Amino acid sequence: MSEFASRRAEMLEWQLARRGIRDRSVLEAMGSVPREEFVRPRDIDDAYGDHPLPIGDGQTISQPYIVALMAEAAQIGPRSRVLEVGTGSGYAAAVLAAIAAEVWSVERMPELAATASERLARLGYANAHVLCSDGSIGLAAEAPFDAIIVSAAGPTLPAALREQLTDRGRLVMPIEERRGWQELVAASRHGDAWRRESLGAVRFVPLIGEQGWAPRPAPRR
Ligand code: SAM
Repeated sequence: MSEFASRRAEMLEWQLARRGIRDRSVLEAMGSVPREEFVRPRDIDDAYGDHPLPIGDGQTISQPYIVALMAEAAQIGPRSRVLEVGTGSGYAAAVLAAIAAEVWSVERMPELAATASERLARLGYANAHVLCSDGSIGLAAEAPFDAIIVSAAGPTLPAALREQLTDRGRLVMPIEERRGWQELVAASRHGDAWRRESLGAVRFVPLIGEQGWAPRPAPRR
C-alpha cells in the first residue's frame, strides 16, 4: 500500500468510522479520492490531517469528517443529481462524483473554479462539472437536484436553493443565524413542508452572494 493510501485508510477508520459515519458509499468514496491532489504542495504531508487546510484566496478545503458528514446527510445514491455550492479545491465535488450520477459544483472565485475544474478533469471525474458563478442562487439551468450541499455559511437557507430541490430532496448547509455561531443543518422537502435537523456546530467561510452575505467593502486607501 502506498504512503497516501495507508493514511487514507487510517483517516477512514479514526476520523470517519469511529465518529459514526456509516454510509458505505460515503466511506468508499472517501477511501477512493486522493486528497493529496487537492491541497497545496506545501501541505501535502498534512493532506489527511483531521482539520481544514488553506487553499489560497482566503479559502479552505474542509476537514475530511465534515465532507463525509455532509455527504451522508445528503443521502445521495448512484442516480442522484447533486449541486455543490463552494467548489474550493474540488475535493468534496470529487467525493460526491464518486457516489452520484452527476455533480454540478459552483464556485464564485474564478481562479479556484479554474484550478478545480482542471484538477477534476485530470483525475478522471468526468461527471463533475465546475462553473464559476454565485451559487447562493443555485443553478436554475440544471435544476431540480436530488441534493444540494453548500460548503459555505449563510444567514438562512436560500429560497432559490429550496426551489431547486426535488420533492424528498435534501439541502445540507451551515447557517449562521446568530453572529459567530454556525449550525450545520440538513433540511428535506416534503411537498410544501420542510423538515429540519441539526447536525451540530461547525465553522465555515461565509457564503457571499445575492442570497448569502454581502461582500465586504474594499478597504479605503
Ligand atoms: N468544498 C470545498 C473543498 O472541497 O475544497 C471547500 C469549500 S470552502 C470551505 C468554501 C468555498 O465557497 C470557497 O471556495 C468560497 O469561495 C466559496 N463560495 C463562497 N460564496 C460562494 C457563492 N455564493 N457561490 C459559490 N461559491 C461560493
